[in-house]
Amino acid sequence: MEFNYLAFAVPLFVVLMLLEYYVARKKKMELFDLHRSIANVSIGILERLTDVLVAGVFYFFYHYIQTNFGLFEIKPTAAMWILLFLGTDFIWYWYHRLAHEMNVLWAVHVVHHQSEDFNYTVSARITLFQAIVRTGFWSVLPLLGFPAEMIFVMLLIHGLYPFFVHTQVIGKLGIIEYFMVTPSHHRVHHACNDKYLDKNYGDVLIIWDKLFGTFQKEDEKPVYGLTHQLNTYSFLWQHFHFYIELWLMVKKQKTLKDKFKMIFGSPTLIDPDMRERAEKIFGIKQQEEPLQHRLNNYVIWQVIVMLVLLFVFILFEFEMGASEKFLFTSFTILTLINCGAIMEQKKWVFAVEFLRMLVIGSALWLYNADYQIVTFFILSVIALLVLFYRTVEERYLSVVYPD
Ligand SMILES: [Zn+2]
Ligand SMILES: [Zn+2]
Repeated sequence: MEFNYLAFAVPLFVVLMLLEYYVARKKKMELFDLHRSIANVSIGILERLTDVLVAGVFYFFYHYIQTNFGLFEIKPTAAMWILLFLGTDFIWYWYHRLAHEMNVLWAVHVVHHQSEDFNYTVSARITLFQAIVRTGFWSVLPLLGFPAEMIFVMLLIHGLYPFFVHTQVIGKLGIIEYFMVTPSHHRVHHACNDKYLDKNYGDVLIIWDKLFGTFQKEDEKPVYGLTHQLNTYSFLWQHFHFYIELWLMVKKQKTLKDKFKMIFGSPTLIDPDMRERAEKIFGIKQQEEPLQHRLNNYVIWQVIVMLVLLFVFILFEFEMGASEKFLFTSFTILTLINCGAIMEQKKWVFAVEFLRMLVIGSALWLYNADYQIVTFFILSVIALLVLFYRTVEERYLSVVYPD
């Protein structure tokens, strides 16, 4: 049996998050909001999962470009590894900078910046869309002639580093501050203080920011999050709100030229009122009161189970077929939507439970040859849904939302 050892990144990151939580408590720093941490980790779970699924596609894409269009035939010598590292980091700088300067790219990157907390869980706020856009930018590397194997190793190392800079428990790091991206630099990047906006885009090296005039030292207390905070735990809304806002803005523009300007222009062009309009269209209600006291253990347990399942899924990834992957992904997405919805005390969460049961039913049907049991399971789920929907829903909601 062949294992995917990248699975161990999941427990490693979880242990580091818990360690940070422990250190923060010892230092009496209030860094973690439970709801926000769950929202952050939820986004990370789906990204890790989908990333595993599409990694092969990316690999073939790079390999195809390098073998067909590669300018040079690059061999893995020490000098070339260093060049590749610099190239990867340089491209990242420009990807990240453009992601903040162009609406169409900001739509995928905004998710990383929504959290009003700043801790290791924030590093999990990456989406599959962001991974795809980044891959597009990094295609320059195979075009230069770097082989896909080299690029994959580099992206793995390069991808681990940013995790460590999302923390407030580490202060300034002396001489390292001069050339590397440190927690202090990245705190500035995640802050919405006026003087900190659009600064410190670097991933591993801070030299690009110093070179291209986007460097800012941390010299006042950062306030984290967006300039116009999102205030929602909805899994879907966090992913898609900006697309809707952008679409509303594009629709408002009269000429084609203005529409293009909106798509490729700066996020500052977006009218702040668009958020409210988008929320009205989709019936999204902002949280006014913190839900801390009502937090449900059910959500916490679902997240814990999903983390364990994610670890198992990645570890045995090579052994799984397409239908298994598809069912697991559907189950994950429904569970994450469910958690977000419970944190917002949404009533439709009940319908999601049914969908999830149908996914489990389909899985049973696929892997358990006992046809009758599975048919019975699926039929009972449907019967429950049709005949006793109201009664079961009431009972369910009174358990999930006790007050
Ligand atoms: Zn950013
Ligand atoms: Zn970040």
